Amino acid sequence: MRTNEENIKLANLLFPSIKKSVGEMREEYPSRGLQGGSLVVRFAPSPTGFLHMGSVFTSLINRRLVDQVGGVCILRIEDTDKKREIEGGVDIIVNGLSEFGIEFDESVQGGKYGPYIQSERLDIYKVFAKDLVSKGFAYPCFANEEELGEIRDKQTELGVRTGYYGEFAKWRDSSLEEIESALGDGKEFVIRLYSTGDNSVKFEFDDEIKGRCTFAQNDMDVVLLKSDGYPTYHFAHAIDDTLMGVNLVIRTYEWFPSVPLHLELFEKLGFERIKYAHASPLMKMEGGKRRKLSKRKDPEADTRYFIERGYPIVPILEYFLNIMNSNFADWRIQNPELAYTEFELKLEKFNRAGALFDMVKLEDVCKEYIAGLSAKDVYDMSFRWAQKFNSELVKRLEENRELCINILNIEREGSKIRKDIVKWEDVNSAFEIFFEDMLEGVDCESMPENVSSEVVGVIVDRFLESYSVGDDTSVWFEKIKGIGNDLGFTSDYKAYKDDPTKFKGKVGDIAMVLRIALTKRSRTPDLHQVMQVMGKEMVEARLRGFMI
Ligand code: GLU
Repeated sequence: MRTNEENIKLANLLFPSIKKSVGEMREEYPSRGLQGGSLVVRFAPSPTGFLHMGSVFTSLINRRLVDQVGGVCILRIEDTDKKREIEGGVDIIVNGLSEFGIEFDESVQGGKYGPYIQSERLDIYKVFAKDLVSKGFAYPCFANEEELGEIRDKQTELGVRTGYYGEFAKWRDSSLEEIESALGDGKEFVIRLYSTGDNSVKFEFDDEIKGRCTFAQNDMDVVLLKSDGYPTYHFAHAIDDTLMGVNLVIRTYEWFPSVPLHLELFEKLGFERIKYAHASPLMKMEGGKRRKLSKRKDPEADTRYFIERGYPIVPILEYFLNIMNSNFADWRIQNPELAYTEFELKLEKFNRAGALFDMVKLEDVCKEYIAGLSAKDVYDMSFRWAQKFNSELVKRLEENRELCINILNIEREGSKIRKDIVKWEDVNSAFEIFFEDMLEGVDCESMPENVSSEVVGVIVDRFLESYSVGDDTSVWFEKIKGIGNDLGFTSDYKAYKDDPTKFKGKVGDIAMVLRIALTKRSRTPDLHQVMQVMGKEMVEARLRGFMI
């Protein structure tokens, strides 16, 4: 065991260049003086070159909660794992979240409680590490990988928990001389916590999402500073969140088991505890089982997947709110006109069972959202998307503004609203039947089997004779019915069902013939509206062209 004096000597030996005291350090991060009830939260991703949808999910929780009560939402970059880091990773996070409409009050782009990137805070961590060493709450450990492996083997053999703790933590009580000698040999070392916890002691803890939980105390002498001088997640979390004045830590459930360790760290560092809310990560169903949405296996785990295809942002955020608080769906129905930001998100209402991310449901929400927009909005939003991702579509939209808005307006009013557009990418397919260059080379679908090519010709001719562009739906349909009835196609569907042999077919076949002749397609939006948008010239030219 080392004496207090020896610990102070050790601290100076390990951190000779660190002159600042913990008190001085804390003065640099004064209390924020916010009104009671305000929240200071942070989203703290690691820059791995990829923005996971879970990051949008978690940062949305942070952003919404702060906006509801006032406070500060921080973006902190946790780049302490140099092996995982990727160049440009910070921009991918900042720009990526911004594309989802999520901005921060303090971040690498500015703020008084920075730096907001951990690799620029290394001396800060050392100030606290030095303090802990001087108090006997931390110590250098020179055990190498091989020795750690031996400890693990021994623990396995004995049938006890593996890890660096208690009697197995061979460097925790080393004498100053032993440490000096190891340092003199130039051995690499890490700084470990000197845990005073007892794993057999249980305690209760209130998580803001999970509620009351029971834990065993931490007794692991975990690494605080790595041999390269970088902090571990645990150490940096306690220091950064305290200095930055964070009063609620929202993070994913994978950190939940670390709570006992974090509480011990806060205590040893002399920090006030911070509330925690552990949210479930986004999950996916596979073979009847839930698993985490995975960066490696699921293309839809990447935010790019949605941005590149042009999924509208608002319904994605709304879908997330619904995963968080299932009462969002009812609220949305009751308040169709309100922005999602009016919904009050509550941590205590979070779905504890897990956050199931279902593409089918998400696409439904997107479809509904786009169905509720005006044609002009669809035009504008898809235009903005296309400017980044589809130059051909931009050109088409630009050169045919009015026509495009008219096309997008088909089935946008009345009882039958179109729901075929899930994402901006789909807008292109809505245009296909109206543009010659898009239809070129497309095979024409076959005519109904019960209509001979001769009859097809008669139908088209008869329609052209009677067609008038100003006809409203009912006049237009009466004309089609008339042609049908003359040629033996009935509009009495019951009579047809009773004895189909009496007829050549149904009136629907007439519309189908015209649809295919006009668009090459057997499935299109409402044919009368399609004709209206095409206009007299195109309708006549197409139908005549078909006959040649
Ligand atoms: N950098 C950690 C992660 O990406 C942050 C966890 C936290 O929010 O505390 O998982």
